[in-house]
Amino acid sequence: MKYDFIVVGHGLAGAILSYTLRKRGHQVLVIDEPRPSSASRVAAGLLNPVAGKRFAKSWMADEFIPAADAFYAELEARFGQELFTHKPIYKIFSSIEEQNTWMARSGNEGWNDFILGTYTQRTGQPDIHDPYGGLMIGRAGNLLVETMLHLLTEELLAQGLLLPERFEMDELQLTSQGVKYKEYEARHLVFCEGFQVIHNPYFRWLPVQPTKGEVLEVQAQNFNPECIYNKAVYVVPIGGSRFLVGATYDWREPDEQPSAEGRQELATRFSQITSQHFSITNHRAGIRPAVRDRKPLVGVHPQYPQLSVFNGMGSKGVLMAPYLAQHFAAALAGEAEVMPDIRISRYLSLYYDYIKPQNTQP
Ligand SMILES: Cc1cc2nc3c(=O)[nH]c(=O)nc-3n(C[C@H](O)[C@H](O)[C@H](O)COP(=O)(O)OP(=O)(O)OC[C@H]3O[C@@H](n4cnc5c(N)ncnc54)[C@H](O)[C@@H]3O)c2cc1C
Repeated sequence: MKYDFIVVGHGLAGAILSYTLRKRGHQVLVIDEPRPSSASRVAAGLLNPVAGKRFAKSWMADEFIPAADAFYAELEARFGQELFTHKPIYKIFSSIEEQNTWMARSGNEGWNDFILGTYTQRTGQPDIHDPYGGLMIGRAGNLLVETMLHLLTEELLAQGLLLPERFEMDELQLTSQGVKYKEYEARHLVFCEGFQVIHNPYFRWLPVQPTKGEVLEVQAQNFNPECIYNKAVYVVPIGGSRFLVGATYDWREPDEQPSAEGRQELATRFSQITSQHFSITNHRAGIRPAVRDRKPLVGVHPQYPQLSVFNGMGSKGVLMAPYLAQHFAAALAGEAEVMPDIRISRYLSLYYDYIKPQNTQP
């Protein structure tokens, strides 16, 4: 059977890219080994336009957010189900110093409608610990990632476009027309394997840093906030007095096992945000595909033009993937070049180091 593209991996990256390629009229076959603990299935689904402690606007937020809004709205219309909830994030200042850092930055140009309000004193929200006030961030919200993946998976299965199995590298042949995998042929193959790209002989030279994250689901009966809270962790309301509390970051020995240490850290952080009584109803862990320079990894293999990679979404897959999928789909169609910030060729020297001792064959 012949396809335009084979996409390996159906997490956030692979699902959004394969949908985008199908929308452009391409024939796409997806191969994905279902893993309940993939980063996408564990993710809290948050979209936050303000990055980190330095209060910088997220990289390319002005481009990424409209693309994300449009993409998730399109899927909602397609499946008749709400997937993305627009909700402000109340970023609680943890100290006077942090408040001052924001005040110094708040005059900068370009915040547009991202900031809904600044509070330098307690806001008086019941049971919320915000002695130094905080910042109300707009254009934010959260995506039901697992639900979105489930809907897209069902659609692919119904159309016979998904092989729910592990992709076996030994079965891949590179041909003059593209690739052959078992009985399937395609012009091009895109790897969207998340952190597992570190095992891919064609792309393992890329500087992916597997980063473990843990998230709790908690129930807090009398807590019904209108916003997402953030102070060291995020508290994301997901309905029915349930909240996702996440996430931790651990580079040391990334595995997908929830740990007692992670549970304790998240529970403590939750208590620092609110005095609401809560019970823990679930605890999950996954591994993010983080990158040294915190920019995604997108592009065609330097030596094998039939192969490419769409990866490295780090902790911002929900924000970045819709725009980048459109961007990369256009590049694969020869309509544009992949932008320099995300091109894998920025790490070409690592590729040359990688192939040197192996005499060019990966
Ligand atoms: C605890 C936690 C919380 C997070 N919270 C957020 C958040 O709030 N907002 C946000 O934007 N991001 C968040 N992230 C990050 C987000 O999850 C990632 O950016 C994103 O999920 C990466 O998607 P991916 O498709 O690249 O990788 P993955 O989700 O890992 O998907 C890769 C897929 O490829 C499949 N695969 C790999 N190798 C093979 C193979 N050989 N054969 C077949 N299939 C294969 C895997 O089974 C998997 O289904 C969080 C991550 C964690 C761990």
